[in-house]
Amino acid sequence: MYKELGISDEVVELVNKSEEKCLEEFKKIEEAEEFNTLKVLKAFKQNRVNESCFNSTTGYGYNDYGREVIEKVFRDVLGAEDALVRSQFISGSHALTVCLFALLRPNDLLLSISGKPYDTLDEVIGIKDNKSSLMSYGVKYDQIDLVNDDFDYDKIEEYLKNNKVKVIEIQRSKGYSTRRSIDLSKVGKVIKLIKSIDSDVIVMVDNCYCEFVSEAEPLSVGADVIVGSLIKNLGGGIAPNGAYIAGRHDLVDLCGERLTLPGEGREVGPTLGINKSILQGIYMAPSVVASALKTAILTAKVLEDLGYEVEPKYNEDRVDIVQNIIFRDPNKLVEFTRGIQMGSAIDSDAIVEAWDMPGYDDKVVMASGSFTQGSSIELSCDGPMREPYIAYMQGALTYPYGKLGLMSAVQRILKNGGE
Ligand SMILES: *Cc1c(COP(=O)(O)O)cnc(C)c1O
Repeated sequence: MYKELGISDEVVELVNKSEEKCLEEFKKIEEAEEFNTLKVLKAFKQNRVNESCFNSTTGYGYNDYGREVIEKVFRDVLGAEDALVRSQFISGSHALTVCLFALLRPNDLLLSISGKPYDTLDEVIGIKDNKSSLMSYGVKYDQIDLVNDDFDYDKIEEYLKNNKVKVIEIQRSKGYSTRRSIDLSKVGKVIKLIKSIDSDVIVMVDNCYCEFVSEAEPLSVGADVIVGSLIKNLGGGIAPNGAYIAGRHDLVDLCGERLTLPGEGREVGPTLGINKSILQGIYMAPSVVASALKTAILTAKVLEDLGYEVEPKYNEDRVDIVQNIIFRDPNKLVEFTRGIQMGSAIDSDAIVEAWDMPGYDDKVVMASGSFTQGSSIELSCDGPMREPYIAYMQGALTYPYGKLGLMSAVQRILKNGGE
């Protein structure tokens, strides 16, 4: 059967051999999976999720009982005062945009302390010119880069003593950068410093790809508001779209006013039949994230055993579900990505090519053989066509599908990469 999928005995043997060395790491993942499952079940029980939550509204979407319960479940799972969970968010980037526009006013200062934010925010902020950017409304922006993959604590301290900052943005996951993702202890340490200098600063955390990877979320270490996508971790591969914003009640309310319209805010927003999918998604999410993490660990081990640089290594603590393979070779990046596409259940006959994706600077290669368009909690792999040609691989709804996708990708680099 492997042969019918184009996977050779050599690759099966290679992957199985590397897998044996991952079992101890898998056990740690299962501990977090169980803990996060507990959190979800507790939130379902406390908020009395029942069958009527699956009902739906249309039109304005007033009095959508299920939507209100969903927001309470997310609130409790994330340790928040309040949460906004809506399918009217097109993506994680859209939720980040709504949050920034909700919190900032003309002349306010936005400061990123994890270097340049995620690529899609370039035009939102105005780092790249856009007539509708925050800067076009008179919002000011500045950034402090990371040093050695940690915050520049001294520079942040000095900056806050000399400037009145309204919002600080922290992005935990690496995005398309070469840095490491930022763990919660560092996030907690820097927030403590920030609040000791200016307790009014709003700390907003881009939590994309990080939910349920460990047992805690950023609100527990002092973040004011966190944002993430439902076609990533918390959607569990089942939510068809949407995103969440969670945190301080007053801030979440402002986001509701901005998402819809001032005066109606969170009272409106039809759910159009997706409540059950969102609930089922967060119900599955602890296990789906665990599958993605196991796939990432196996990928790291296999590629490392083949002599490639990987980040993180198979036995390093993980902050997000993203696995980097540093190919230093454009052909290998493309071939590996093609292999992931070929090893997917949907669109397995598509041949991946680099293209100019809206919102991104370089050409991007992207494998996404997913049920939900662009879903990156499903097995997916992408990367910008620039030095050092890094594959950003993530997802897999189940570990066996992840393992098969990896085998397919490894087959491609053994056969075609760089030749
Ligand atoms: C995925 C991601 C986003 C949002 O991406 P969308 O594709 O718009 O959902 C934002 N920040 C980070 C770090 C991400 O990984």
